[in-house]
This record gives sequence, C-alpha cells and structure tokens, in this order.
Amino acid sequence: MTVELPEANTATDEKVRSAPAPPDHARADQIAEDVYCPACAYNLRTLTSNRCPECGLDIAFIKSAESHLPWMNRDKVGPVRAYLMTVWMVVFRTKHFCLEMSRPVDEVEARRFRRITITLAFAPFLLFTLVLRFLRPDAFDAFVGFGGYTFAVAAHAAILAAFLTVTAVPYYVIRHPDIALDRQRRAAALTLYCAAPLSLTGIAGTLAIVGIASSRLYNRDVDLAFYLAAVGVLLILAAVTVFDVQRVIRGMLGGARRSWPIILRLYCFGVLAAFLCFVGVPAAVAFLMIVIHSAF
Ligand SMILES: [Zn+2]
Repeated sequence: MTVELPEANTATDEKVRSAPAPPDHARADQIAEDVYCPACAYNLRTLTSNRCPECGLDIAFIKSAESHLPWMNRDKVGPVRAYLMTVWMVVFRTKHFCLEMSRPVDEVEARRFRRITITLAFAPFLLFTLVLRFLRPDAFDAFVGFGGYTFAVAAHAAILAAFLTVTAVPYYVIRHPDIALDRQRRAAALTLYCAAPLSLTGIAGTLAIVGIASSRLYNRDVDLAFYLAAVGVLLILAAVTVFDVQRVIRGMLGGARRSWPIILRLYCFGVLAAFLCFVGVPAAVAFLMIVIHSAF
C-alpha cells in the first residue's frame, strides 16, 4: 500500500480514510497512550473497542489516559478537598486507586503528595511533645529523663527520618523483570500515594493530647488508656499503608505472577530502614549534641 503523506492533508476525505492513520492523526475513539488492561496487563494502545482483546475485560472505565486521582484535579476542586479525596480513595477505594497504573501517573505530583503527607504525619508528634512539655512538665521530664532535650530532639529526628525512608522503600523494591518498564514506573509512583493513611496520625495525636489534658484535669493517671489508644491508631494506619502497597504490587503483577518475593523484599528493607532510623539517627544526634556541648 502506498501512502502519500504530504498530499494526505490536502486530499479528499476518501483518500485520508484509505491511508493508515499516523499517530498524530489517531482516531478520536482510539486509546492514544500506553494504557494497560488491569486484569492481564495487555497494552491497549490504538484499541477502539470497549473489551480487552486478550482477556475480554470491559475496559470502558480506563480508556481515558486522564488520571482519576482527585489530587490531579485540584485546580477544579481545590487543594484541600483534592488531598482529602485522594486519601479517601487510597484508603477506602483501593481497587479503584490501583487501576490508575493502567494509565500514565505523574510522578512529580506523586512525590509532592507524599511530601505533604509526611508533613501531616509528623506534625502531631511535634505538637504532642510541646503540649506535654507545657501541660505536664513532670511527665515530660520523666519522658526525656535520661537524655534531656537531646532525647526529645533525637526521638523526633528518628520519627521524621523513618517517615521519609520507610515510605520511599516500596518505590525502590517494586521491580519485576517480566513487567513492562512503563507499568513498573507507574506502580512505583502509585506507591508514593500509599503513604496517604499516615496523614491521619492527627487522630492519634488528638487522643494523646486528650490523655494529657484529662490527666491534668482529674489529677490522676488516666492518660495511659489514651496513649495506648493513640498507639493502636498508629498501628492501624501503618497496617493500612502496608496493605495498600501490597495491593499495588499485586495489581502491577496482574495476578499471574508470584507477589511474595517483592513483598518479602518490601518487609526486609522496610524493617531495615526503620531500624537504621530509630537506632542510627538518635546515635548521630547524641554524638552531635556531645560535640556541641563539649565545644562550648
Ligand atoms: Zn485484558
């Protein structure tokens, strides 16, 4: 078949139709980008039907390459609402969220979302310590007892470092040689959104602060129950985060491949990162404090 591309633009409609469509003149109902079937990972690019040719799945809902993540629509709904809607999607509509790896994922925006999430996750810890310091100085002194303010600084540095490193681990471990590189990148970018449940540590922070306030009001040690409840909330949020990451990993693999090697890697590096943060960072802070104290 001969194609006269230069003339095609000025040719009659019939001539244009008979020529194979070049990429920039793709038909309107064609999938223009690399969009993958969520069930079998088949590349649906240039497809016009609503069924995956490989597995028959109804793919009408992912035909558009436009992101369904509310975070990507914040110019329309506003940044706060878009953020909260994204947290809701990641936590409660995980399946829908995982479908996003079928279409392009903006990694810069995913990183921005994670940075905001870590700020929101860390702030309640700082607030709790300040409230403890001013409402219950006795409890604060007992808390920082053996290390004074060095302990408080080291503990917060370790928590912040742990949030920064542990939430980045899935991004690096989610690799599989059988999966298209493009799909791996999208899944990796989606794991950055999986930090979303951690933005709710404010719930744990509120419980802990209520504990401080109540123990001050009633002058009795009723705060322990609130502290335990706060720790319980933190554990639930961490579990939801890990669950979301595992869903993304399984989604990327498409069910046909074993997910446990990646999940095992996730746990090993996650625990290692947390260990380094909670042991290495306090050690570094303590060393720095000793150097500063001995210098003045
Ligand atoms: Zn399919």
